[in-house]
Amino acid sequence: MSLNINELKKQFDDYKAKKLSLNIERGQPSGKNFDLSNPMLNSVTDKDLIAQGNIDIRNYPGGIAGLQEARELFAPVLGIKPEEMIVDNNASLRILVNTLMWGLIKGLKNSDKPWILDNKPKIITAVPGYDRHFQLLNELGFEIVTVKMTAEGPDMDAVEKLASTDEKIKGILFVPTYSNPTGDTISDANVKRLASLKAKAKDFTIFADDAYAVHHLTSDKKRPLNLLRACESAGNPDRVYLFGSTSKITFSGAGIGFMGCSADNIKFISKLMGSQAIGPNKIEQLRHVKFLNSFKGGIEGIMEEHAKILRPKFEVVQKVLNKELGGTDLATWTNPKGGYFVSLDTSKPVASRVVELVKELGVSLTPAGATFPFGKDPNNSNIRISPTRPPVEEVEQAINILALCVKIASLEN
Ligand code: PLP
Repeated sequence: MSLNINELKKQFDDYKAKKLSLNIERGQPSGKNFDLSNPMLNSVTDKDLIAQGNIDIRNYPGGIAGLQEARELFAPVLGIKPEEMIVDNNASLRILVNTLMWGLIKGLKNSDKPWILDNKPKIITAVPGYDRHFQLLNELGFEIVTVKMTAEGPDMDAVEKLASTDEKIKGILFVPTYSNPTGDTISDANVKRLASLKAKAKDFTIFADDAYAVHHLTSDKKRPLNLLRACESAGNPDRVYLFGSTSKITFSGAGIGFMGCSADNIKFISKLMGSQAIGPNKIEQLRHVKFLNSFKGGIEGIMEEHAKILRPKFEVVQKVLNKELGGTDLATWTNPKGGYFVSLDTSKPVASRVVELVKELGVSLTPAGATFPFGKDPNNSNIRISPTRPPVEEVEQAINILALCVKIASLEN
């Protein structure tokens, strides 16, 4: 491996001449992942019009919480009971935003007043984190307070200090399992600390975006302690809302989003959601139920098939980074056991330069800074790698280019 700038620049020019077009920018499934679910498109016919409880899936009645069979199917994804589930339409982000909006304009179940009356209420997020979380909190008018994402989840010393002293802090939004982008999973000890936290705001709420709850890449499928159960044990049963979806189980653009919370919160939020719509799309829900229940091994079975497609891509990322950057002190990176991302930190403040350089060679990377609020990474070091969509060979080429540009940008610096 060479760190001679002239040799590196020659390699750079050679890549440039190839006029490549590679994309490791967004966490999307590949065509092969989607193909696993194609049979779902025909899984409901005119022979399936009546669901459990004599519900006609074409008509309004059926309730805001979704089909009973869908609640039963997806409850284990969040590790909770069917009666603690609301199964909605595509996109868990929409349900998350919806819940935050109700907090703002009305307050949640244990609030004395709408959060908006606090004039810039605050939400804690972990960084590096998911760009869309920052965007949605910002659009809603929350002040975003950041804590560091550690290998054991959000830095709980910082969370406790902030939440116990500031009444404007209404909650925390983070990804508990295989976080975006670091792939870190919260430890059981930190789940307990969050559940029993003595918050200044009595309606302090945990918004746990469990988008990758069942998205294991290895046979080590250990899951963190369940946040809803932990909050219940700590005497704060209404403190947490869990979110998940089938976006990376079936189709990301045509899946099912769901939410889990205490039975009392279900009552509270169902009434509000029931004022927004009569009910979710029951035909789509039944399509998912019939398809996933008939898939060999059910949801776990399809996730294993996804892992077979995704694992080689994550392995090649590690292989190339180890070969090209291992032992150079130029960067560190995560090696997640699940989820959709790898997070790389350059040792020097060169992330934006790296993204610029790889772009010159035809590689699209998530913009530098995207993993921090307002796109501003204070160290200019974090780069999110999304290896899931392109074929393995393209991932390999893109990561080789990324490693080359990390070397060039670091030497330039
Ligand atoms: N939450 C996280 C942490 C994600 O990484 C993503 C997609 O990348 C989403 C939510 C999007 O989920 P959905 O499609 O259910 O809105």
